[in-house]
Amino acid sequence: MDIQLYNTATRRKETLHPIKKKIVSLYTCGPTVYWYAHIGNFRTFIFYDVLRRTLAFLGYRVRHVMNITDVGHLVADADIGEEKMAAAAKRERKTAWQVADFYTGAYLRDARLLNIIPSTKQPRATEHIREQIALVRELEKKGHTYRTNDGIYFDVTTFPHYGALSGQSLSDKQGGKRVAVGDKKNPADFALWKFSPADEKRDMEWKSPWGIGFPGWHVECSAMARKYLGQPFDIHAGGIDHLPIHHENEIAQSVAAYGVPLAHLWLHGEFLVLGKPNNEERMGKSEGNIKTIGELVSQFHVDPLAYRYLCLTTHYRSKLYFNEKSLKAADHALRRLRKHARDLGKAGREGVAEFEERFRQALANDLDTPTALAIVWELVKVRGLAPGDVKRSLLLFDTVLGIDIDRRAEKISVPRAVQELIEKRDAARAAKEWGKADEIRKAIAAAGFVVEDTSEGPKAQKLLT
Ligand code: AMP
Ligand code: ZN
Repeated sequence: MDIQLYNTATRRKETLHPIKKKIVSLYTCGPTVYWYAHIGNFRTFIFYDVLRRTLAFLGYRVRHVMNITDVGHLVADADIGEEKMAAAAKRERKTAWQVADFYTGAYLRDARLLNIIPSTKQPRATEHIREQIALVRELEKKGHTYRTNDGIYFDVTTFPHYGALSGQSLSDKQGGKRVAVGDKKNPADFALWKFSPADEKRDMEWKSPWGIGFPGWHVECSAMARKYLGQPFDIHAGGIDHLPIHHENEIAQSVAAYGVPLAHLWLHGEFLVLGKPNNEERMGKSEGNIKTIGELVSQFHVDPLAYRYLCLTTHYRSKLYFNEKSLKAADHALRRLRKHARDLGKAGREGVAEFEERFRQALANDLDTPTALAIVWELVKVRGLAPGDVKRSLLLFDTVLGIDIDRRAEKISVPRAVQELIEKRDAARAAKEWGKADEIRKAIAAAGFVVEDTSEGPKAQKLLT
Protein backbone atom coordinates (compact mmCIF):
# COMPACT_ATOMS: atom_id res chain seq x y z
CA MET A 1 0.00 0.00 0.00
CA ASP A 2 1.22 3.52 -0.81
CA ILE A 3 1.79 5.93 2.03
CA GLN A 4 0.92 9.60 2.03
CA LEU A 5 3.12 11.86 4.11
CA TYR A 6 2.88 15.58 4.73
CA ASN A 7 5.86 17.21 3.08
CA THR A 8 6.80 20.49 4.73
CA ALA A 9 8.64 21.51 1.56
CA THR A 10 5.45 21.53 -0.54
CA ARG A 11 2.94 21.98 2.30
CA ARG A 12 0.80 19.07 1.24
CA LYS A 13 0.49 15.35 1.62
CA GLU A 14 2.46 13.45 -1.00
CA THR A 15 2.77 9.82 -1.95
CA LEU A 16 6.12 8.35 -1.11
CA HIS A 17 7.94 7.07 -4.19
CA PRO A 18 11.19 5.61 -2.85
CA ILE A 19 14.25 6.09 -5.02
CA LYS A 20 15.00 2.37 -4.66
CA LYS A 21 11.42 1.13 -4.97
CA LYS A 22 11.07 -1.11 -1.91
CA ILE A 23 13.86 0.36 0.24
CA VAL A 24 13.23 3.66 2.02
CA SER A 25 16.17 5.82 3.06
CA LEU A 26 15.36 7.82 6.16
CA TYR A 27 17.46 10.34 8.07
CA THR A 28 16.32 11.75 11.40
CA CYS A 29 18.04 14.38 13.53
CA GLY A 30 19.10 12.78 16.80
CA PRO A 31 19.91 13.90 20.33
CA THR A 32 22.61 16.25 21.49
CA VAL A 33 24.21 14.29 24.29
CA TYR A 34 25.09 17.08 26.73
CA TRP A 35 22.22 16.27 29.09
CA TYR A 36 19.43 13.73 29.57
CA ALA A 37 17.02 13.56 26.63
CA HIS A 38 13.68 14.79 28.01
CA ILE A 39 10.18 13.58 27.23
CA GLY A 40 9.83 16.31 24.59
CA ASN A 41 12.85 14.96 22.74
CA PHE A 42 11.40 11.48 23.11
CA ARG A 43 8.11 12.57 21.62
CA THR A 44 10.08 13.31 18.46
CA PHE A 45 12.03 10.04 18.67
CA ILE A 46 8.77 8.09 19.10
CA PHE A 47 7.43 9.86 16.00
CA TYR A 48 10.50 8.67 14.05
CA ASP A 49 10.01 5.16 15.39
CA VAL A 50 6.34 5.05 14.39
CA LEU A 51 7.30 6.29 10.94
CA ARG A 52 9.91 3.60 10.60
CA ARG A 53 7.65 0.84 11.91
CA THR A 54 4.79 1.98 9.67
CA LEU A 55 7.01 1.82 6.60
CA ALA A 56 8.01 -1.72 7.54
CA PHE A 57 4.37 -2.63 8.20
CA LEU A 58 3.46 -1.41 4.73
CA GLY A 59 6.08 -3.67 3.20
CA TYR A 60 9.13 -1.44 2.76
CA ARG A 61 12.62 -2.13 3.94
CA VAL A 62 13.92 0.87 5.83
CA ARG A 63 17.45 2.12 6.06
CA HIS A 64 17.31 4.53 8.97
CA VAL A 65 20.16 6.78 10.01
CA MET A 66 19.94 8.85 13.18
CA ASN A 67 22.93 10.84 14.29
CA ILE A 68 24.24 11.45 17.76
CA THR A 69 25.42 15.02 18.14
CA ASP A 70 28.44 14.90 20.38
CA VAL A 71 30.18 18.07 19.25
CA GLY A 72 29.43 21.40 17.61
CA HIS A 73 25.91 22.30 18.81
CA LEU A 74 25.97 25.82 20.16
CA VAL A 75 23.64 26.91 22.94
CA ALA A 76 21.51 28.84 20.46
CA ASP A 77 20.82 27.09 17.16
CA ALA A 78 21.62 30.33 15.33
CA ASP A 79 25.31 29.89 15.95
CA ILE A 80 25.77 31.93 19.04
CA GLY A 81 26.73 31.12 22.59
CA GLU A 82 28.90 28.40 24.05
CA GLU A 83 29.28 24.95 22.56
CA LYS A 84 26.94 22.65 24.51
CA MET A 85 29.36 19.78 25.13
CA ALA A 86 32.13 22.08 26.37
CA ALA A 87 29.68 23.92 28.64
CA ALA A 88 28.44 20.61 30.10
CA ALA A 89 32.02 19.41 30.68
CA LYS A 90 32.73 22.57 32.66
CA ARG A 91 29.52 22.18 34.66
CA GLU A 92 30.16 18.53 35.49
CA ARG A 93 33.96 18.77 35.85
CA LYS A 94 34.40 16.02 33.31
CA THR A 95 35.84 15.91 29.83
CA ALA A 96 33.49 16.50 26.92
CA TRP A 97 34.17 12.87 25.93
CA GLN A 98 32.97 11.58 29.29
CA VAL A 99 29.87 13.75 29.11
CA ALA A 100 29.09 12.40 25.63
CA ASP A 101 29.53 8.79 26.75
CA PHE A 102 27.38 9.20 29.82
CA TYR A 103 24.42 10.88 28.13
CA THR A 104 24.60 8.65 25.06
CA GLY A 105 24.21 5.70 27.43
CA ALA A 106 21.30 7.39 29.22
CA TYR A 107 19.62 8.12 25.91
CA LEU A 108 19.99 4.54 24.69
CA ARG A 109 18.55 3.12 27.92
CA ASP A 110 15.48 5.36 27.82
CA ALA A 111 14.98 4.65 24.12
CA ARG A 112 14.94 0.94 24.96
CA LEU A 113 12.32 1.49 27.69
CA LEU A 114 10.14 3.14 25.05
CA ASN A 115 10.55 0.27 22.56
CA ILE A 116 12.31 2.54 20.10
CA ILE A 117 14.04 0.35 17.54
CA PRO A 118 17.70 1.37 17.19
CA SER A 119 18.40 3.01 13.85
CA THR A 120 20.25 1.00 11.22
CA LYS A 121 23.19 3.39 11.71
CA GLN A 122 23.80 5.67 14.64
CA PRO A 123 26.76 7.78 13.52
CA ARG A 124 28.44 10.20 15.92
CA ALA A 125 29.58 13.61 14.73
CA THR A 126 33.02 13.17 16.32
CA GLU A 127 33.59 10.03 14.26
CA HIS A 128 32.92 11.82 10.98
CA ILE A 129 35.22 14.80 11.05
CA ARG A 130 36.89 13.84 7.76
CA GLU A 131 33.54 13.74 5.94
CA GLN A 132 32.55 17.09 7.41
CA ILE A 133 35.82 18.72 6.36
CA ALA A 134 35.31 17.32 2.85
CA LEU A 135 31.92 19.00 2.66
CA VAL A 136 33.28 22.35 3.82
CA ARG A 137 36.14 22.13 1.29
CA GLU A 138 33.62 21.52 -1.47
CA LEU A 139 31.69 24.61 -0.41
CA GLU A 140 34.90 26.61 -0.26
CA LYS A 141 35.85 25.50 -3.77
CA LYS A 142 32.48 26.66 -5.08
CA GLY A 143 32.71 30.09 -3.44
CA HIS A 144 30.09 29.74 -0.69
CA THR A 145 32.33 30.38 2.31
CA TYR A 146 34.27 33.14 4.00
CA ARG A 147 36.53 33.38 7.00
CA THR A 148 36.06 35.42 10.16
CA ASN A 149 38.06 35.62 13.37
CA ASP A 150 36.31 32.65 14.86
CA GLY A 151 35.56 30.34 11.95
CA ILE A 152 34.56 29.54 8.40
CA TYR A 153 31.01 30.58 7.53
CA PHE A 154 28.47 29.81 4.84
CA ASP A 155 27.36 32.93 2.99
CA VAL A 156 23.60 32.46 2.55
CA THR A 157 23.40 35.13 -0.15
CA THR A 158 25.29 32.72 -2.44
CA PHE A 159 22.38 30.26 -2.26
CA PRO A 160 19.32 31.79 -3.92
CA HIS A 161 16.86 29.21 -2.55
CA TYR A 162 17.78 29.81 1.08
CA GLY A 163 14.61 29.71 3.19
CA ALA A 164 12.45 27.81 0.68
CA LEU A 165 11.70 24.91 3.04
CA SER A 166 10.15 27.10 5.72
CA GLY A 167 8.73 29.53 3.16
CA GLN A 168 10.73 32.51 4.35
CA SER A 169 12.59 34.76 1.97
CA LEU A 170 16.07 35.76 2.96
CA SER A 171 15.01 39.37 3.52
CA ASP A 172 12.23 38.21 5.92
CA LYS A 173 14.77 36.18 7.80
CA GLN A 174 17.46 38.82 7.92
CA GLY A 175 15.15 41.64 8.87
CA GLY A 176 12.90 39.99 11.38
CA LYS A 177 15.30 38.39 13.79
CA ARG A 178 17.64 39.98 16.23
CA VAL A 179 20.64 37.75 15.76
CA ALA A 180 24.10 38.68 16.91
CA VAL A 181 25.97 39.19 13.67
CA GLY A 182 29.50 39.50 15.08
CA ASP A 183 31.87 39.19 12.18
CA LYS A 184 29.26 37.48 10.04
CA LYS A 185 28.27 39.20 6.79
CA ASN A 186 24.57 38.31 7.13
CA PRO A 187 22.61 37.34 10.24
CA ALA A 188 21.54 34.00 8.70
CA ASP A 189 25.09 32.95 7.78
CA PHE A 190 26.17 29.93 9.79
CA ALA A 191 29.39 28.32 10.97
CA LEU A 192 30.88 25.45 9.00
CA TRP A 193 34.02 25.23 11.05
CA LYS A 194 34.79 26.97 14.37
CA PHE A 195 38.32 27.70 15.54
CA SER A 196 39.48 26.65 18.98
CA PRO A 197 40.23 29.76 21.04
CA ALA A 198 43.91 30.72 20.74
CA ASP A 199 44.55 30.48 24.49
CA GLU A 200 42.61 27.29 25.22
CA LYS A 201 42.93 23.62 24.39
CA ARG A 202 39.50 22.12 23.87
CA ASP A 203 38.75 18.47 24.73
CA MET A 204 37.29 18.03 21.28
CA GLU A 205 39.28 19.63 18.51
CA TRP A 206 40.76 18.56 15.21
CA LYS A 207 43.18 19.81 12.59
CA SER A 208 41.64 21.19 9.41
CA PRO A 209 42.81 23.11 6.35
CA TRP A 210 41.60 26.28 8.13
CA GLY A 211 43.05 25.75 11.58
CA ILE A 212 42.42 23.67 14.68
CA GLY A 213 38.81 23.60 15.75
CA PHE A 214 35.53 21.72 15.42
CA PRO A 215 32.72 21.45 12.87
CA GLY A 216 29.61 23.63 12.99
CA TRP A 217 26.56 21.68 14.13
CA HIS A 218 24.58 21.71 10.88
CA VAL A 219 27.43 20.16 8.89
CA GLU A 220 27.26 16.72 10.52
CA CYS A 221 23.76 15.86 9.28
CA SER A 222 24.56 16.82 5.68
CA ALA A 223 27.84 14.91 5.70
CA MET A 224 26.62 11.76 7.47
CA ALA A 225 23.31 11.53 5.58
CA ARG A 226 25.23 11.65 2.30
CA LYS A 227 27.72 9.07 3.48
CA TYR A 228 25.18 6.50 4.65
CA LEU A 229 22.15 7.19 2.45
CA GLY A 230 23.46 8.95 -0.63
CA GLN A 231 22.06 12.19 -1.97
CA PRO A 232 19.22 12.66 -2.50
CA PHE A 233 17.57 10.23 -0.11
CA ASP A 234 13.87 9.66 0.54
CA ILE A 235 12.78 11.15 3.87
CA HIS A 236 14.33 13.60 6.29
CA ALA A 237 12.57 14.11 9.62
CA GLY A 238 13.09 16.29 12.67
CA GLY A 239 11.36 18.32 15.34
CA ILE A 240 9.55 21.47 14.24
CA ASP A 241 12.20 23.69 15.85
CA HIS A 242 14.68 22.44 13.25
CA LEU A 243 12.65 23.77 10.35
CA PRO A 244 13.66 27.45 10.20
CA ILE A 245 17.39 27.13 10.86
CA HIS A 246 18.92 23.67 11.07
CA HIS A 247 17.15 22.15 8.09
CA GLU A 248 17.47 25.27 5.95
CA ASN A 249 21.18 25.15 6.64
CA GLU A 250 21.47 21.44 5.89
CA ILE A 251 19.76 22.01 2.54
CA ALA A 252 21.86 25.07 1.69
CA GLN A 253 25.14 23.22 2.36
CA SER A 254 24.27 19.96 0.66
CA VAL A 255 22.67 21.45 -2.43
CA ALA A 256 25.33 24.15 -2.83
CA ALA A 257 28.11 21.57 -2.51
CA TYR A 258 26.76 18.78 -4.70
CA GLY A 259 24.11 20.32 -6.94
CA VAL A 260 21.31 17.82 -6.18
CA PRO A 261 18.50 17.90 -3.57
CA LEU A 262 19.26 16.55 -0.10
CA ALA A 263 15.96 14.73 0.54
CA HIS A 264 12.62 14.32 -1.23
CA LEU A 265 10.21 14.50 1.71
CA TRP A 266 10.67 16.69 4.79
CA LEU A 267 8.66 15.70 7.86
CA HIS A 268 8.40 17.73 11.06
CA GLY A 269 7.01 16.63 14.39
CA GLU A 270 5.25 19.15 16.61
CA PHE A 271 6.41 19.87 20.14
CA LEU A 272 5.38 18.52 23.48
CA VAL A 273 4.34 21.50 25.60
CA LEU A 274 3.15 22.11 29.12
CA GLY A 275 0.05 24.05 30.10
CA LYS A 276 -3.00 24.68 27.94
CA PRO A 277 -3.69 26.10 24.46
CA ASN A 278 -2.98 29.88 24.47
CA ASN A 279 -1.11 29.53 27.72
CA GLU A 280 1.61 27.09 26.97
CA GLU A 281 5.14 26.72 28.09
CA ARG A 282 7.83 24.88 26.20
CA MET A 283 9.80 22.22 27.97
CA GLY A 284 13.41 23.22 28.19
CA LYS A 285 16.47 23.13 30.32
CA SER A 286 16.51 26.90 30.70
CA GLU A 287 12.84 26.87 31.78
CA GLY A 288 13.80 24.35 34.48
CA ASN A 289 10.82 22.11 33.70
CA ILE A 290 12.44 19.15 32.04
CA LYS A 291 11.18 15.67 32.78
CA THR A 292 12.95 12.48 31.85
CA ILE A 293 11.39 9.07 31.28
CA GLY A 294 12.87 7.91 34.60
CA GLU A 295 11.19 10.80 36.37
CA LEU A 296 7.81 10.00 34.81
CA VAL A 297 8.09 6.48 36.11
CA SER A 298 9.25 7.33 39.61
CA GLN A 299 6.96 10.34 40.13
CA PHE A 300 3.79 9.07 38.55
CA HIS A 301 4.32 5.33 38.87
CA VAL A 302 3.47 4.63 35.27
CA ASP A 303 4.80 2.15 32.78
CA PRO A 304 7.28 3.96 30.47
CA LEU A 305 5.20 2.69 27.57
CA ALA A 306 2.26 4.69 28.91
CA TYR A 307 4.19 7.70 27.67
CA ARG A 308 4.51 6.09 24.27
CA TYR A 309 0.76 5.38 24.31
CA LEU A 310 0.11 9.02 25.21
CA CYS A 311 2.19 10.17 22.24
CA LEU A 312 0.15 7.93 19.93
CA THR A 313 -3.09 9.59 21.02
CA THR A 314 -2.06 12.85 19.37
CA HIS A 315 -1.15 13.24 15.71
CA TYR A 316 2.54 14.01 15.25
CA ARG A 317 1.77 17.34 13.56
CA SER A 318 -0.31 18.61 16.51
CA LYS A 319 1.01 19.89 19.79
CA LEU A 320 0.91 17.46 22.66
CA TYR A 321 -0.15 19.13 25.91
CA PHE A 322 1.49 17.11 28.60
CA ASN A 323 0.07 16.76 32.10
CA GLU A 324 -0.13 14.18 34.84
CA LYS A 325 -3.80 13.48 34.28
CA SER A 326 -3.46 12.53 30.63
CA LEU A 327 -0.36 10.46 31.37
CA LYS A 328 -2.20 8.49 34.03
CA ALA A 329 -5.18 8.06 31.73
CA ALA A 330 -2.82 6.67 29.10
CA ASP A 331 -1.32 4.30 31.65
CA HIS A 332 -4.79 3.13 32.64
CA ALA A 333 -5.86 2.63 29.03
CA LEU A 334 -2.73 0.67 28.25
CA ARG A 335 -3.26 -1.66 31.22
CA ARG A 336 -6.88 -2.21 30.18
CA LEU A 337 -5.86 -2.95 26.63
CA ARG A 338 -3.35 -5.54 27.84
CA LYS A 339 -6.01 -7.11 30.02
CA HIS A 340 -8.34 -7.40 27.04
CA ALA A 341 -5.52 -9.01 25.09
CA ARG A 342 -4.82 -11.50 27.90
CA ASP A 343 -8.47 -12.43 28.13
CA LEU A 344 -8.46 -13.28 24.44
CA GLY A 345 -6.05 -16.13 25.00
CA LYS A 346 -3.87 -17.41 22.20
CA ALA A 347 -3.57 -15.81 18.77
CA GLY A 348 -5.35 -17.70 16.01
CA ARG A 349 -4.18 -18.22 12.46
CA GLU A 350 -6.20 -15.43 10.88
CA GLY A 351 -6.57 -11.76 11.67
CA VAL A 352 -9.66 -9.65 11.27
CA ALA A 353 -9.19 -8.43 7.72
CA GLU A 354 -11.55 -5.47 7.79
CA PHE A 355 -9.92 -3.98 10.87
CA GLU A 356 -6.44 -4.62 9.57
CA GLU A 357 -7.29 -2.82 6.36
CA ARG A 358 -8.63 0.22 8.22
CA PHE A 359 -5.64 0.26 10.55
CA ARG A 360 -3.33 0.19 7.54
CA GLN A 361 -5.24 3.00 5.86
CA ALA A 362 -5.09 5.19 8.98
CA LEU A 363 -1.31 4.89 9.21
CA ALA A 364 -0.83 5.27 5.46
CA ASN A 365 -2.66 8.58 5.81
CA ASP A 366 0.25 10.58 7.21
CA LEU A 367 0.65 8.36 10.29
CA ASP A 368 -2.78 8.92 11.78
CA THR A 369 -2.07 7.18 15.09
CA PRO A 370 -5.12 8.56 16.97
CA THR A 371 -7.40 6.88 14.42
CA ALA A 372 -5.27 3.72 14.51
CA LEU A 373 -5.69 3.55 18.29
CA ALA A 374 -9.43 4.09 18.00
CA ILE A 375 -9.57 1.12 15.61
CA VAL A 376 -7.69 -1.00 18.15
CA TRP A 377 -10.31 -0.21 20.79
CA GLU A 378 -13.15 -0.81 18.40
CA LEU A 379 -11.70 -4.21 17.61
CA VAL A 380 -11.37 -5.31 21.24
CA LYS A 381 -14.92 -4.19 22.01
CA VAL A 382 -16.77 -5.56 19.03
CA ARG A 383 -18.77 -8.70 19.74
CA GLY A 384 -19.05 -11.89 17.78
CA LEU A 385 -15.49 -12.21 16.47
CA ALA A 386 -13.31 -15.22 17.15
CA PRO A 387 -11.00 -14.26 20.07
CA GLY A 388 -7.97 -15.83 18.37
CA ASP A 389 -8.49 -13.71 15.25
CA VAL A 390 -8.80 -10.53 17.29
CA LYS A 391 -5.66 -11.43 19.18
CA ARG A 392 -3.76 -12.02 15.98
CA SER A 393 -4.71 -8.58 14.65
CA LEU A 394 -3.74 -6.95 17.93
CA LEU A 395 -0.30 -8.50 17.76
CA LEU A 396 0.06 -7.28 14.20
CA PHE A 397 -0.97 -3.76 15.23
CA ASP A 398 1.57 -3.79 18.02
CA THR A 399 4.39 -4.16 15.50
CA VAL A 400 3.68 -0.49 14.74
CA LEU A 401 2.34 0.79 18.05
CA GLY A 402 5.15 -0.79 20.08
CA ILE A 403 3.27 -0.75 23.39
CA ASP A 404 3.65 -4.42 24.35
CA ILE A 405 -0.04 -5.21 24.07
CA ASP A 406 0.72 -8.85 24.78
CA ARG A 407 2.64 -8.26 27.97
CA ARG A 408 1.74 -10.71 30.71
CA ALA A 409 0.74 -9.33 34.06
CA GLU A 410 4.02 -8.76 35.80
CA LYS A 411 4.88 -11.33 38.38
CA ILE A 412 7.18 -9.64 40.79
CA SER A 413 8.62 -10.91 43.99
CA VAL A 414 8.16 -8.50 46.84
CA PRO A 415 10.77 -8.79 49.59
CA ARG A 416 9.40 -9.67 52.99
CA ALA A 417 10.52 -6.34 54.51
CA VAL A 418 8.57 -4.45 51.86
CA GLN A 419 5.53 -6.67 52.36
CA GLU A 420 5.63 -5.85 56.09
CA LEU A 421 5.80 -2.13 55.32
CA ILE A 422 2.78 -2.48 53.05
CA GLU A 423 0.83 -4.13 55.84
CA LYS A 424 1.87 -1.43 58.30
CA ARG A 425 0.81 1.25 55.86
CA ASP A 426 -2.53 -0.44 55.40
CA ALA A 427 -3.01 -0.51 59.17
CA ALA A 428 -2.06 3.19 59.44
CA ARG A 429 -4.57 4.06 56.73
CA ALA A 430 -7.27 2.03 58.44
CA ALA A 431 -6.55 4.04 61.60
CA LYS A 432 -6.69 7.25 59.52
CA GLU A 433 -3.10 8.06 60.45
CA TRP A 434 -2.41 9.68 57.11
CA GLY A 435 0.95 11.23 58.02
CA LYS A 436 2.30 7.90 59.18
CA ALA A 437 0.91 6.10 56.13
CA ASP A 438 2.66 8.60 53.90
CA GLU A 439 5.97 8.15 55.70
CA ILE A 440 5.70 4.40 55.19
CA ARG A 441 4.87 4.93 51.52
CA LYS A 442 8.11 6.86 51.17
CA ALA A 443 10.06 4.05 52.83
CA ILE A 444 8.49 1.60 50.37
CA ALA A 445 9.46 3.84 47.46
CA ALA A 446 13.00 4.06 48.81
CA ALA A 447 13.12 0.26 48.58
CA GLY A 448 12.17 0.52 44.90
CA PHE A 449 8.45 -0.30 45.12
CA VAL A 450 5.22 1.54 44.85
CA VAL A 451 1.90 0.55 46.38
CA GLU A 452 -1.14 0.66 44.21
CA ASP A 453 -4.45 0.68 46.03
CA THR A 454 -6.61 -1.61 43.95
CA SER A 455 -10.15 -2.82 44.54
CA GLU A 456 -8.66 -6.04 45.88
CA GLY A 457 -6.49 -4.21 48.41
CA PRO A 458 -3.00 -2.74 48.20
CA LYS A 459 -0.63 -4.25 45.66
CA ALA A 460 3.09 -3.71 45.30
CA GLN A 461 4.57 -2.80 41.98
CA LYS A 462 8.23 -2.50 41.17
CA LEU A 463 9.53 0.94 40.32
CA LEU A 464 11.36 1.11 37.03
CA THR A 465 14.18 3.59 36.94
P1 AMP B 1 18.39 18.11 20.68
O1 AMP B 1 18.87 17.06 21.65
O2 AMP B 1 18.19 19.45 21.28
O3 AMP B 1 19.28 18.16 19.45
O4 AMP B 1 16.95 17.67 20.20
C1 AMP B 1 16.66 16.37 19.77
C2 AMP B 1 15.31 16.34 19.06
O5 AMP B 1 14.26 16.64 19.99
C3 AMP B 1 15.19 17.34 17.93
O6 AMP B 1 14.65 16.69 16.78
C4 AMP B 1 14.23 18.39 18.46
O7 AMP B 1 13.47 18.94 17.43
C5 AMP B 1 13.37 17.58 19.41
N1 AMP B 1 12.73 18.35 20.50
C6 AMP B 1 13.29 19.23 21.36
N2 AMP B 1 12.37 19.71 22.25
C7 AMP B 1 11.20 19.10 21.96
C8 AMP B 1 9.86 19.15 22.50
N3 AMP B 1 9.55 19.91 23.55
N4 AMP B 1 8.90 18.39 21.92
C9 AMP B 1 9.18 17.59 20.86
N5 AMP B 1 10.41 17.50 20.31
C10 AMP B 1 11.42 18.23 20.84
ZN1 ZN C 1 20.06 17.40 11.55
